Amino acid sequence: MGILQNIKDLNLELASTSAKLVAVSKTYSSEIVKEAYDAGQRIFGENKVQEMVEKYQQLPQDIQWHLIGHLQKNKVKYIAEFVSLIHSVDSLELLKEINKQALKNDRVISCLFQVYIAKEETKFGLSEVELQKLIFDSNIAELNNVKIVGLMGMATNTSDSKQIYSEFETLKKVFDSLKLKNLPQNVDLHELSMGMSSDYKIAIQLGSTMVRVGSLIFGKR
Ligand SMILES: *Cc1c(COP(=O)(O)O)cnc(C)c1O
Repeated sequence: MGILQNIKDLNLELASTSAKLVAVSKTYSSEIVKEAYDAGQRIFGENKVQEMVEKYQQLPQDIQWHLIGHLQKNKVKYIAEFVSLIHSVDSLELLKEINKQALKNDRVISCLFQVYIAKEETKFGLSEVELQKLIFDSNIAELNNVKIVGLMGMATNTSDSKQIYSEFETLKKVFDSLKLKNLPQNVDLHELSMGMSSDYKIAIQLGSTMVRVGSLIFGKR
């Protein structure tokens, strides 16, 4: 047991799939995150801006930091310099702000649209209808400093694996059908971020390309 072994086991399991591992390090100290880094892990996910900035400053520079939690517009400026992927874009206003801050830093920031697939009221994200509207919005093509590389979704927190399966299946179908459409030049859908500690096995069956796993690596929060 231990972080090193957990990461080895997960990578072994993911090796035969299309999914890479985003190690969700929220609430764990930089010392603990460093253990995962020393085990070879380079992609880490955080859900709070301030915590991500602190760890970015304390940990090696070749870490790819993914913002996986809800992002407020006024906080984009703190992460624009270094964030590698934002999983949680759910409005045009937020995307415009990311574009503005990316431009200031002379970067192109990769983003995912977060889609609401769960039967729970607490989850952020776009409905399928909102997603369709946003992705074809004529403003998107003008945002030269962002790139939309895929979709993210969270399934309902339930032990009903059939329900989780069907929610991930819905997202996969939306993803596949959008890929066939004529999309703006800065939309190139190839990442499907779905699956956490409790449901990543289901997500990889449905073609997840990124699983966001925290407690299974680091232990209970
Ligand atoms: C916390 C979190 C995860 C990881 O959850 P675990 O159950 O610890 O694997 C994944 N995605 C998001 C958006 C999260 O906030």
